[in-house]
Amino acid sequence: MTDLFLTPRLIPILEQVKRFVLEELIPLEKEIHHGFHHISKIIIEEKRPKIRALGLWGLHLSKKLGGLDLSLVEFGQLSEVLALCPFGHYAFNCQAPDIGNYELLHQFGSSMQQEKFMQPLIEGKIRSCFAMTEPEFAGSNPVNLGTTAILEGDKYIINGHKWYTSSADGATFAIVMAVTNPTNPPHQRASMIIVPTDTKGYQFVRNISVMGDTGEAWSSHAELRFENCSVPKENIIGQEGSGFALAQHRLGPGRIHHTMRWIGIAERALEMMIKYALKRELNQGETLADKQVIQHWIAECRANINAARLIVLDTARQIDQKGAAAVKDEISMIKFFVPKIMHETLDKAIQVHGGLGVSDDLILSHLWRHERPSRIYDGADEVHKSALAKSIFKKYK
Ligand SMILES: Cc1cc2nc3c(=O)[nH]c(=O)nc-3n(C[C@H](O)[C@H](O)[C@H](O)COP(=O)(O)OP(=O)(O)OC[C@H]3O[C@@H](n4cnc5c(N)ncnc54)[C@H](O)[C@@H]3O)c2cc1C
Repeated sequence: MTDLFLTPRLIPILEQVKRFVLEELIPLEKEIHHGFHHISKIIIEEKRPKIRALGLWGLHLSKKLGGLDLSLVEFGQLSEVLALCPFGHYAFNCQAPDIGNYELLHQFGSSMQQEKFMQPLIEGKIRSCFAMTEPEFAGSNPVNLGTTAILEGDKYIINGHKWYTSSADGATFAIVMAVTNPTNPPHQRASMIIVPTDTKGYQFVRNISVMGDTGEAWSSHAELRFENCSVPKENIIGQEGSGFALAQHRLGPGRIHHTMRWIGIAERALEMMIKYALKRELNQGETLADKQVIQHWIAECRANINAARLIVLDTARQIDQKGAAAVKDEISMIKFFVPKIMHETLDKAIQVHGGLGVSDDLILSHLWRHERPSRIYDGADEVHKSALAKSIFKKYK
């Protein structure tokens, strides 16, 4: 942990949140064999009231909304600590995609949208989802969308097919990316429209079975269809054609939340690796920690995690100061760099634990499976690397 980005107000909050995660949430992991649904129930009924009583509800919210009004740099450091447990973010109600939808509605939603959709979201009364990706088109180039929203009178009529809509199962509303202005330039064709999931024509097709899934609705990924699904025109967020501009606003801070979460996971894996190496005896008092190869793995993981944390927090600092659009290169950099560090650390931690490492007795196997998609969603590694390289070349041309 670096203290370079700590602020006086953050220090006690960070300590309190970390204590809560270690003492109240990590012990719940032993309940995983009863299923995540069981854990969710305990979180909602027992843990969230405790979090509220401690004054820690709304880590990501503005003061006006009863939150702590933290900067992205500050929230990022909390995101790392929350990730020490797989359901830390969920317990504190700042899990994706709700946190992204909250930020979007907070910045760009109308007062009706904030009251009707954002307020219950931040109170933890409802959940939401974000539907952009479609099976028929490469998600890596999301300007190609088949979903349309046609304005007829005072209603948008939506038709289309989506998949990988995370947390749609049990969500009260979806923010749907749909083409409203097909003749505009590609990046100005789509809009974001709020669709309550009980609207006629909204069809929940299925939860896709994805590696690392826990079977719990808040971390599921759905396929959806929209068939003449009609919503009031005031459900559009911002202006017609502003969908991709809004998506950029949504993704910038989101990548800080995710990458700091992955650093938290790497940190936990490293700690497990260190503790096990020190206690696992090979023969006559010699432990795994005495082996040079394992010492090197631990040293490399330590250096990698520290480096990753510094570039992520520096990116967050720049987003706080200049906005996400000004630091596209840095955002691309962290999006492919941090998953690599996390996976290398998880891999070494599993290896050091031997057979125990690949068993479901430890959290490592769950983390390995559950975090593999990190190299695909929010832009695949290759897309971010190419974007960064193009920007680097541009400066030399
Ligand atoms: C667990 C998970 C959760 C998700 N949650 C959501 C969600 O809530 N809402 C939502 O709308 N979407 C969500 N997605 C979808 C995600 O954003 C897309 O999967 C992602 O954008 C990639 O699109 P694609 O799957 O269509 O892959 P494609 O675009 O078809 O790409 C396939 C592969 O091709 C390679 N590739 C792509 N472009 C390039 C390039 N330019 N150069 C070199 N190689 C390239 C990459 O290796 C990539 O993995 C989620 C996905 C996953 C796995």
